[in-house]
Amino acid sequence: MGISKALLQKYAELIVRTGGNVQRGQVVQLTVSVEQHAFAALVMEECYKAGAKKVNVEWSSDTQRRLNFLYADQEVLARVLPWEEAKMKQMVEDLPCRIYIASDDPDAMNGVDPHKLSEVSRSRSTVIKPYRNAIDGKHQWVIAAYPSVPWAKKCFPDLDDQAAVDRLWEAILKTVRVRENEDPVQAWKEHTDFIEKKADWLNAQGFSSLRYKSANGTDFTVRLIPGAKWEGAGAVNSVNGAFYIPNMPTEEIFTSPMAGECEGTLVSVKPLSWNSQLIEDFSITFENGRAVSCRAAKGQELLEKMIAMDEGAAMLGEVALVPKESPVNQCGFLFYETLFDENACCHVALGMGFKEVLPDGDNLTQEQAKAQGVNDSIIHVDFMVGADDLNIDGIRPDGTTIPVFRNGTWAK
Ligand code: ZN
Repeated sequence: MGISKALLQKYAELIVRTGGNVQRGQVVQLTVSVEQHAFAALVMEECYKAGAKKVNVEWSSDTQRRLNFLYADQEVLARVLPWEEAKMKQMVEDLPCRIYIASDDPDAMNGVDPHKLSEVSRSRSTVIKPYRNAIDGKHQWVIAAYPSVPWAKKCFPDLDDQAAVDRLWEAILKTVRVRENEDPVQAWKEHTDFIEKKADWLNAQGFSSLRYKSANGTDFTVRLIPGAKWEGAGAVNSVNGAFYIPNMPTEEIFTSPMAGECEGTLVSVKPLSWNSQLIEDFSITFENGRAVSCRAAKGQELLEKMIAMDEGAAMLGEVALVPKESPVNQCGFLFYETLFDENACCHVALGMGFKEVLPDGDNLTQEQAKAQGVNDSIIHVDFMVGADDLNIDGIRPDGTTIPVFRNGTWAK
């Protein structure tokens, strides 16, 4: 079996043209696993057909990353070497379109000390951050997926390698709207138009809080940050004006709520995979904006550990609205990959928020964003609360209540 050449071609084209929207004369930085070298060639060629000046490929490897973390010292891994910094300087100059093909084995880092992982990424990001900030909003980027055997086997452990990969392909193509005899570019235009219309509507409402209720026990209110935007689907490169889609698939409209201001209980409707372990049938109760208790049929200790990771880990950094009709939800299985799983239904995230939802947020420091209510933490963990009967009301500052979601989907 396997996916047809024609569909692969369509998919590569979609990633390059609609996702990254590679511009004539632009440099492209493609990050892709060494395992997917054939697909990398396809994407590269599409970039050149779109007019790319140069495509630089950054090969990644699960195995290499795992071995480094198992054997090399934390201090060694934490250091950003001069040549790495030189590459980032070049990136600030080039403002490339960055394309990232995700195909990681969800279990690749099993057995690696999570503390080592987070400490390495924390100290590296202090060096990398200024370069990231320098290109933020000024270049296009997109993450899309390509199924690897270990990833597919994680999703479908009972199938043989090829059958598992086929099933995962089928699901991925469904969620990114790539079908035989259909133009995915047109499908994406309709999809992103719909999401933007909903985001515009939310922004016009000026809700000060949201109230969640469903029969499973979810009964929860969260305050929003005045003036913070709801965002979704696409973004615009402020330098060249190119419209791009950072995540494929994408179904969510999200914002960062006021950290430390929520009350009540959220009941999760899907298992949560954290540090390669599952937390199942769980709920979290908040008081004064902080998770004060949690209950899980499986993974209770893990959940407690997650919430205690740091000061911000017990507070919310994201609320996101996704209707239950989402194609990811219709697939009906856990992808073990946030790119997909967070697009299944309504969710919230514990931990770090997004400063870009604030007016002029791109130019704020993390501290300034925090002062305005955007949560800060080393974790950002999404969990799904979008029950089929979930109702969400928007509450305006004057107390007016407007239905936002009814029975797990847009009220209108
Ligand atoms: Zn999200």
